[in-house]
Amino acid sequence: NNIYFFSDRFYELTGYEKNELNESTGGWKSAIHPDDAVMAEEARQAHLTGVLSFYYSEYRLQTKNGNYLWFQARGKAALSKSGRTVRFAGSMINITDKKQYELDLENSYRATATAQEELVKQYEQLSEKEGKLRKSRERYRLITEAAHDGIWETDYVNGNEYYSSRWYEQLGYQADSQLTFYQLVHPDDSDRVLSAIDLHTNGETEHYQCEYRLRMSSGEYRWFLGRGKALYNDKGEITRFAGTNTDINDSKENQEKLRYLAYYDSLSKLPNRLSLLETMETFLVQSDGKAALIFVDMDNFKYINDTLGHKFGDSLIYETSKRLVSIVGEKGMVCRLGGDEFVIFLPDIKEQKHAVQLVKFILDQFKEPFIVNESQLHVTVSIGISYYPEDGTNAEDLLKSADVAMYKSKEQGKASYTIYRKSMQTAFNDRMSIEKLMRNALKGQEFLLHYQPQVDLKTNRITGFEALLRWESRELGMMPPYSFIKIAEDSRMIIPIGEWVLQTACAFLAKLHRSGYSNCRMAVNISVIQLVQDDFVPMIMRTLDRERIAPEFLELEITESIFMVSFESIVAKLEILRFRGVRIALDDFGTGYSSLSYLKLLPITVLKIDKVFIDSIPDISQNRALTDTIIALGHQLNLEVVAEGIESEEQLNYLKGVGCDKVQGFYYSRPVPEREAMQLLAREEPLTDV
Ligand code: C2E
Ligand code: MG
Ligand code: MG
Repeated sequence: NNIYFFSDRFYELTGYEKNELNESTGGWKSAIHPDDAVMAEEARQAHLTGVLSFYYSEYRLQTKNGNYLWFQARGKAALSKSGRTVRFAGSMINITDKKQYELDLENSYRATATAQEELVKQYEQLSEKEGKLRKSRERYRLITEAAHDGIWETDYVNGNEYYSSRWYEQLGYQADSQLTFYQLVHPDDSDRVLSAIDLHTNGETEHYQCEYRLRMSSGEYRWFLGRGKALYNDKGEITRFAGTNTDINDSKENQEKLRYLAYYDSLSKLPNRLSLLETMETFLVQSDGKAALIFVDMDNFKYINDTLGHKFGDSLIYETSKRLVSIVGEKGMVCRLGGDEFVIFLPDIKEQKHAVQLVKFILDQFKEPFIVNESQLHVTVSIGISYYPEDGTNAEDLLKSADVAMYKSKEQGKASYTIYRKSMQTAFNDRMSIEKLMRNALKGQEFLLHYQPQVDLKTNRITGFEALLRWESRELGMMPPYSFIKIAEDSRMIIPIGEWVLQTACAFLAKLHRSGYSNCRMAVNISVIQLVQDDFVPMIMRTLDRERIAPEFLELEITESIFMVSFESIVAKLEILRFRGVRIALDDFGTGYSSLSYLKLLPITVLKIDKVFIDSIPDISQNRALTDTIIALGHQLNLEVVAEGIESEEQLNYLKGVGCDKVQGFYYSRPVPEREAMQLLAREEPLTDV
């Protein structure tokens, strides 16, 4: 009958009266935000036409008072025997707070970054202005400020000190209180005052001028500026010394605040890059000793931030900085460069091994878990060390060398330290140029996909392909995935590249289906960086939709790297995809972190045994026994088991013998371009219907 029904809670949330929107005839759809309406309708249709196995959409809905609320809608259609939709029911969850929170975090993150830069600029401008101002004020100050300032005078002939009543008033004392300057000046400042007076009375300065703190009647100290001039008699002896006392506390405090903001990181309370560079430069100019720079970068911080949120990430940074400071203590200066990067400057080290000892201690101390928001988290760091003067004679160079060395630690599997060597620079530059060229590779259509068939061992037929990325760089030539995927992940370029891979592979799959290979499947490799993106699930569904491919023909290959951080949110996403019918394969099984107990927690359908196990099949070895165990275990968990990288008949027979389901490897075919992949299918005997 095409009648819509909403529960009372819908009206409560949206503020409308029943029928106010003509909702029973579909009028409620006009309340959906125009930017979201098309997508929501597409998702609805995708389900109602059977493309997706259920309805899922996120959209804004305008409430009675004109505001928009974010809803997460899910639903499922009930079909009649003939396949017609008879009912379509579901739920809407108000996710406005969650969306707003995400938005706020994003904005505040950006705002802090710009505010920091802005402050440095302001501080510099202020310092410059102050200098100019001071000069121009010089001439007028005695006249204009005399009324305002306290006046003091020392009679050098009889030793008397005189203070004006304003002088006492400024400090909150009675004019007849008899207190003198030296009774009130802050103990830390008195030496400075005395030497400024000496400089003037020796004739080295034209004026006496000094900033100091004086104790107020309230007991607290305030900053003042003292200025004065000595008067001489005919014989050139000082007779009197007189001047003013100006309250500069507010501007001093402001200046301090600005200085603090310009030189310190507000999150960790550590000195920032600017402080580091200035401290280093001062050291390098004054000292001819040795120094070390230790670059510390948190491992996998991006994942932590993406999966647990920026707020959590911020707390973790704070905890990390606290730990670093407690480890380093007085030995050096700990700074935060930004993001998850810290630098420790060790001036005046006697021997280089002292820096190494400290670094080892840091790595050791990071074995202790962190407690953030009541959850426990293990964080490791990658460290690079550079030495002065060997690895750079200025601050920037030393920093760069330490950074390069740190990168090396990352490449070698993180949680380690590396001492800079000259040869690393070239590798680092290579990396940089690869990254640069990669940025243009998508636009320049330098990426392409090759497809490697997967063969069912029972039927001996191709059941599908794995799409494998190839980069034919104009500048670098053919680049194997191992040489650039990691870089694409670190620079997050894997996100657009991965989306392109998925789109291209699905388009080819659709073509295969249209050409009559309608049972063919496509496996696509997915990086963990893609998985943690908010848009990941919609992106997959959109692509399937666009190519009109049923989810069961797509297989996403994930690796054990998802275990690197808390993988709950990843599992949630995989579960949604799984629920919609997308297949999930665990790639390279047996090489990484995975404990077998994790396997049960993952919503996977396929286990891909890594090639290293297959390689050892000709010999009798432990690995061979392991292969049997993995296959048996996979079957126990109801998983399909695929063996990767089979190159010989011997391996094939062995795998057949132990009940492996599918194989993939050069023995059947290398990964090949589209046209050849089609030919591989065409070569097979036509299937006779069972
Ligand atoms: P993988 O997903 O484990 O892919 C299997 C790799 O084994 C492929 O290497 C394939 O060419 C190779 N291989 C297959 N059979 C044999 C064999 O019989 N002998 C030998 N020696 N090798 C065989 P390839 O294409 O170089 O890809 C390497 C890795 O790069 C992939 O490992 C995958 O982790 C990653 N990768 C490839 N394409 C993509 C992609 O589109 N996205 C992401 N995120 N990663 C990708
Ligand atoms: Mg793979
Ligand atoms: Mg693999």
